Amino acid sequence: TVGAVALDQHGHIAAGTSTGGTLSKAPGRVGDSSLIGCGCYADDESAAVSLTGWGEPIMKLVLGKWAVDRVAAGAPPQEAAGAAIDYLYTRLGGHGGIILLSRDGRFGLAHNTPRMAWGLRTPEGQQVGVTRDGAPELA
Ligand code: ASP
Repeated sequence: TVGAVALDQHGHIAAGTSTGGTLSKAPGRVGDSSLIGCGCYADDESAAVSLTGWGEPIMKLVLGKWAVDRVAAGAPPQEAAGAAIDYLYTRLGGHGGIILLSRDGRFGLAHNTPRMAWGLRTPEGQQVGVTRDGAPELA
């Protein structure tokens, strides 16, 4: 997956998710990445999110919308990201990763896959890294 979340100078927020799909997928399978609310979702009033990982549980939980709703309810993006991955695992045993950006510019990421590469560009500069073992390195 390649996923992106962005916030422009006018306060508009957007998300995009691209994928090759899963290994040995059934012909005609439509995965979570292209389903708004599942692997990709954005709402100008709260947050944008992109997900990678096991598409079937992500779709069953409509996990992108679930995470954005947590931010809308007041959760900090990092907390909402962690809660989404916890929910993915505890509810359906799923594995995946999430990036999340709130409309006020706060960023969150979480994953329960062995690692996840990420990059963050802010008006002040940029950071890149690879998280390992579920421990985000945002410093
Ligand atoms: N979420 C994708 C799918 O299930 C796979 C991926 O790119 O992470 O189709």
